Amino acid sequence: MKIAFENAFADGIEMILTGGDLIMDSFATKRAQVDREWALFHKIFDAHCKVPVEHCLGNHDIFGFCLSKAELKGNEADFGYSRPLAELKLPSRWRSFDRGGWHFIVLSSVERDPNDECGYLAYLTKEQRAWLEADLAATKLPTVVVSHVPIVSVTGTVRDASNIKIGKTEFGGGLIHLDAGPVHGIFRTAGNVKLVLSGHTHLIDRCVADGVTYCCSGAVCGSWWKPSKTHCEPTYALIDLFNDGSFDYRIKPTGWKNA
Ligand SMILES: [Zn+2]
Repeated sequence: MKIAFENAFADGIEMILTGGDLIMDSFATKRAQVDREWALFHKIFDAHCKVPVEHCLGNHDIFGFCLSKAELKGNEADFGYSRPLAELKLPSRWRSFDRGGWHFIVLSSVERDPNDECGYLAYLTKEQRAWLEADLAATKLPTVVVSHVPIVSVTGTVRDASNIKIGKTEFGGGLIHLDAGPVHGIFRTAGNVKLVLSGHTHLIDRCVADGVTYCCSGAVCGSWWKPSKTHCEPTYALIDLFNDGSFDYRIKPTGWKNA
C-alpha cells in the first residue's frame, strides 16, 4: 500500500495521512479569521485532492484555547476540539481503522495547560491511553501511528540552543510528548507498531527504539512559507507499506519555492 504523509501529488497514492496544523491558526485567533481559514482549506482540498484523506489534529486546529486572543468565553458550541471535528467530519479526537492489510491509529495529543492560558501540553489523557492499549491489544496487523506532536524525537535537541540550560537540557511540554516513556512502552509491549509519524516541529528526523521507527516528516509549509536556516524546506513523506510489515519511507520536497 502506498501512502503519503501530509501531502501527495505523485501517482499511485492510495491514501493521504495529514499530521495536523491544517490551518494557520485557530488556537489564538478571532472567529472571523478562523472562518476564512477553514473555508480556504476546504476549497483547496476539494479542488485538488482526489484520494482518501485521514486527518490528524494539531494545536493550530483547536479553536480558541487561548481565550483572550480568540476573544471567546470557552462555552461556545464550537470551542476547542468541537470546531475541527465538525469541519473535518471526524467522529472523535482519536480513532483507528484498517486499510491495505495495515492498522492505523490517529492520536490526539494536545491538551490545555492549566498554568498557561495560551499554552498547551502534549500527552495522552488517561482515557486516551487506556483506549490505545485496548485498541492495540485487539489487532495483530502491522500498525502505523500518527501523532501530531512527536512522541520520541531528536528534533527538540537539534531545533535550536534555547533548550540548553546550566546542567540540563529542557524541552517545553508542548514540543515533545511528556509521556514518551509510557507510550513507547505501550508500543513496545504491543510488538506490532512499526512506524510512528508526527509533524509539529517543522524538522526532519528518524529514530528507532526497540524496533519502533519514529519519524518527524518536516512540514508542507517548510518554515511557515518563509526561508529559514533552522527549519526544513517544504516536504512530505512518501511511504510504501508492504504485506510483511516492512515499509519504505522517503522524504520528498513538495517543489514549492518562496517567491
Ligand atoms: Zn503543531
